[in-house]
Amino acid sequence: MGVNTLGHRIAELIGAEGPLSVAQFMSLCLYDPEGGAYAAGEPIGQHFITAPEISQAYGELAGLWVAQTWLDQGRPDRPRLMELGPGRGTLMADALRALKVVMPDFLDGAEIVLIESSPGLQRRQETALAGHDRVRWHKHFGDVPADRPLFLIANEFFDCLPVRQFVKTEKGWCERMVIVREGKLAFAVAPAAIDPSLLPPDRVEAPEGGFYEVSPASLALAAEIAATIAACGGGGLIIDYGYDGPGYGETLQAVAGHAYADVLVDPGKVDVSAHVDFVALTRAVRAGGAAAHGPVPQGRFLQALGMAARAERLIAANPGQADAIAAAIDRLVNPDKMGSLFRALGVAPKNAPPLPGF
Ligand code: SAH
Repeated sequence: MGVNTLGHRIAELIGAEGPLSVAQFMSLCLYDPEGGAYAAGEPIGQHFITAPEISQAYGELAGLWVAQTWLDQGRPDRPRLMELGPGRGTLMADALRALKVVMPDFLDGAEIVLIESSPGLQRRQETALAGHDRVRWHKHFGDVPADRPLFLIANEFFDCLPVRQFVKTEKGWCERMVIVREGKLAFAVAPAAIDPSLLPPDRVEAPEGGFYEVSPASLALAAEIAATIAACGGGGLIIDYGYDGPGYGETLQAVAGHAYADVLVDPGKVDVSAHVDFVALTRAVRAGGAAAHGPVPQGRFLQALGMAARAERLIAANPGQADAIAAAIDRLVNPDKMGSLFRALGVAPKNAPPLPGF
């Protein structure tokens, strides 16, 4: 580890203050203002690619989902269209183009809000959305008042939010920590067990060596989103890779240059994330006072929204690109590719009609 690297600084921090939780370590890897992957790098494209970057049909269908949800709720006035972690702005640009065609009335009164922590990616989004009025940026969901019906999209956002990890040992559940061993960052299990009543009931019975992962930031945010939608109307669409639990594996992962990498070797130079626990997220949505729809596999969700027809139209308009378009759509819907690892979870007011696609 070079002396100026984030890894070196993290090692010094651990030397001075003691072991870090996996969540604290993940936060530094992603958000450290000088060396964090999002703050200082360009992870999308360089390390990984996301669904809206694979095909424009993805963001267009997200726009149609918003249009249909808004219609189903009686076209409420002054809607707010919000995206969490818009990356390069591709999904929102495609969604707005579709909305302009199918539902210009929605856009007439709408305010568009993007929640983005990375200044570099915000600049990218400004470029992608140049020409659209009433677009605003905030760093946190909580910075936006709950004063309008909320139509929210979050694609590959929750996987970024830090997770704590606990390991079942003979002493009970102990937190997994990051320490320094022989000059290198390493994982270790904290010596003292936590109070097992802190665990949800489905995690109490686990084999020794089993993991329990929890993302307190994700659960708090999901409950806040649910409370806003319950109070103001609207709908939320959360899509990410994840599992339906309980599951006793650990899912912390790093990618660099489109391949899996070591989480600990070069912090900030790799993208770290964790799979989303959709059972826990669903529980948090309900605790926030809204109804949860799904989760359903991404492939099924996209097909239900009319992906096949959208693909045909795209191919008809670009016959020279037919194979590439078909391959991109297949990547999104095929269960062996992104179609089943990725899941969609809907958030709606309790008495609202069913959300499209679920
Ligand atoms: N939704 C996009 C980008 C996914 S990458 C796509 O599908 O292509 C994750 C995005 O969330 C990036 O824009 C990143 O900068 C942003 N992000 C990650 N953690 C965040 C946080 N805690 N607060 C705000 N934005 C965050």
